[in-house]
Amino acid sequence: MNYTTQRKKMVETQLIQRNIKDARVIEAMQEVPREYFIPELSRSLAYEDRPAPIGEDQTISQPYMVALMTQALKLCGRDIVLEIGTGSGYQTAILSKIAAHVYSIERIPTLAAKAKETLNTLGYTHVTVMVGDGTKGDPEHAHYDAIIVTAGSPGIPPSLKEQLADGGRLVIPVGSRGYQELHRITRNGNDFVTENLGGCIFVPLIGVEGWGKDVPM
Ligand code: SAM
Repeated sequence: MNYTTQRKKMVETQLIQRNIKDARVIEAMQEVPREYFIPELSRSLAYEDRPAPIGEDQTISQPYMVALMTQALKLCGRDIVLEIGTGSGYQTAILSKIAAHVYSIERIPTLAAKAKETLNTLGYTHVTVMVGDGTKGDPEHAHYDAIIVTAGSPGIPPSLKEQLADGGRLVIPVGSRGYQELHRITRNGNDFVTENLGGCIFVPLIGVEGWGKDVPM
């Protein structure tokens, strides 16, 4: 089966049949060629129903998780989005199809460089990839309509809450290093409403407002 056919099947069986309903998300997942974001050696895993290795002990998230988190952000097409954990850049590409601009922060310079190159080659232009500790957010371009964190955090980084626009949505896995619950926090003025969207497992969010130093699991 070629990649286009595999992608179509992934969207049908892994997303639509599991209640991904947002038409923009489905269209983006149908269009972005996930195989280009995966190192050649593991490229055959591109459309499997699980995360895949991208080097540096990191992973590209399962397609369903990418779709679920994107849907949870409730993007309308005009949003300014902050992403923490660029990884391969795949989630960034999906977000950029639906948002006005995506600012994305990755702490590992080699991954950021590779993601930048892939996004550039594929022509995703409304994207800025930066290297740094994303737990502190990016005050320069705040406030954000949506913030997505693609690594597991022990709590909600205060800087990210502060950089959320009024009415903005923050989607973040919160829990222990081995298991998290996906939270959506919606800002209403100085009130923050939290919803639990279910269990998940992510690599740890390493930074001053996350897990601190990179210690073994
Ligand atoms: N969304 C990515 C994709 O589509 O490939 C997968 C992200 S991977 C599950 C999590 C990423 O978060 C890793 O690349 C990791 O290096 C990064 N990360 C962890 N802590 C971070 C931090 N404080 N700031 C920025 N990136 C961080």
